[in-house]
Amino acid sequence: MGQQKQDGVVGNEECQLCRITYSIYSNFPPMPSAMALNAETGEWFPFDRLKSYSTGYEMAEALGYAWACDCRGRAFKRFNEQFEIRDSTGKRQAGVRYRIRVGSKVLAKGVTDAQGRTQRLSTDNAKQVSIEVAGS
Ligand SMILES: [Zn+2]
Repeated sequence: MGQQKQDGVVGNEECQLCRITYSIYSNFPPMPSAMALNAETGEWFPFDRLKSYSTGYEMAEALGYAWACDCRGRAFKRFNEQFEIRDSTGKRQAGVRYRIRVGSKVLAKGVTDAQGRTQRLSTDNAKQVSIEVAGS
C-alpha cells in the first residue's frame, strides 16, 4: 500500500470539513479565469488561490465557512465582540441591565457603561449570540 498524502498538522486530527474541502480543491485543474465566492463576506476572489493553500482549513476560511470547522475553528477563530445598546432614536443607553446568551446559556450579564456598551465577550459561535435587555 502506498503512503497516504499527509498535509495536516502533525498530531492534530483534521475534521471532515477540512479533509473534504482539501480533497476537493487541491485536485482541481488550474482555472485562471474562474472566481470563487467567500460566502461570509460576499467577496469574489481568484479560484486558483484556493489551490495555493496547504490545508483545508485555509480553503474553508477563504470560502467563508471555516466557522463550521470542528478541528481548528474553535481554537483559532473566536468571536470577540461587545454590543452597543441604543434606543429607537439612536441614543446610547447607559445603565441598562442586559444579558447575553448563546442558545440557552447565559454568557454574560451586567449593566451598560456610559457609552451604552456591554462588556466584551468571547465565544466561538457568533451566529447564536443573542442579547436581552431589561425594560427600564
Ligand atoms: Zn477542521
